[in-house]
Amino acid sequence: MRFVSRREFLAASAAAAMIGPAGSAEPKKLVLIAGRPSHGPGAHEFNAGVQLLAKCLKDFPGLDASVNLNGWPKRQSVFDGAAAILLYMDGGDAHPAIQGDHRSLLGGLMQKGVGLMCAHYGVEVPKDKGGREFQDWIGGYYEHAWSVNPIWRPEFKEFPKHPIANGLQPFSAEDEWYFNMRFRPELKGVTPILTAVPLDKVRNGPYVYPHGPYKHIQDAKGRPEHMMWAVERPDGGRGVGFTGGHFHTNWKNDHFRKAVLNALVWTCKLDVPQDGVESTVSDEEIKQNLDPKPERK
Ligand SMILES: [Zn+2]
Repeated sequence: MRFVSRREFLAASAAAAMIGPAGSAEPKKLVLIAGRPSHGPGAHEFNAGVQLLAKCLKDFPGLDASVNLNGWPKRQSVFDGAAAILLYMDGGDAHPAIQGDHRSLLGGLMQKGVGLMCAHYGVEVPKDKGGREFQDWIGGYYEHAWSVNPIWRPEFKEFPKHPIANGLQPFSAEDEWYFNMRFRPELKGVTPILTAVPLDKVRNGPYVYPHGPYKHIQDAKGRPEHMMWAVERPDGGRGVGFTGGHFHTNWKNDHFRKAVLNALVWTCKLDVPQDGVESTVSDEEIKQNLDPKPERK
């Protein structure tokens, strides 16, 4: 028998306490991050949105959702022990994930197999600043002037055999559903989850910004487009992109919400129930925690 120092003994005890006996693992920590207010009432309600998602996951077994509001967390310790992270926030050049040392922080977490889901504007990063990473981490991203952001109502009729699609029934929802993401070449490793065919008039624009239309979008008429997708990375982590989430009221849509809740559970490497994550959002709850109206100058 080898002599074990007191320090080693304590370290081993601490590790055992973290893992616990078989079958009683610590809950998986899901870090929900809401971006700062940016739009008028009812749109980009990231703060209210993540609080609704956390409420819907409150009783999900084995999951512990931590809510972080109004932008990138001030304390890096928020990420300690994370199983997965949701970034529901404005993106583009100002994407919080690419400011300062955040990209390398996230990269380190991804290497450890932490899950990542990006929603709505949170899927957009500049091609040369985050584009390659987002392809690695979640399979694709919104590329300016390649991807488009019209407001339209896709009909989601069929779903793949994938845990995120558990319990989903055909549905539609009007939203600013971005499409034509810059995916990995040949969609390598990417499983489309929400797919629909935009009508030609959607391809003809206007898009929210810039108004378009773009020839490469019009030329692809009739092609199915993916508004939600999932990847399993070589580092063991899971990634999801979801392009809806502009209009807050869509969280009232049971299937829209179920797709996102299923995805959050899946990115934490927890089992998604056969019928998907069940939840309700009342008329009262949808009005809660909305951002204050911007002051008029
Ligand atoms: Zn939007």
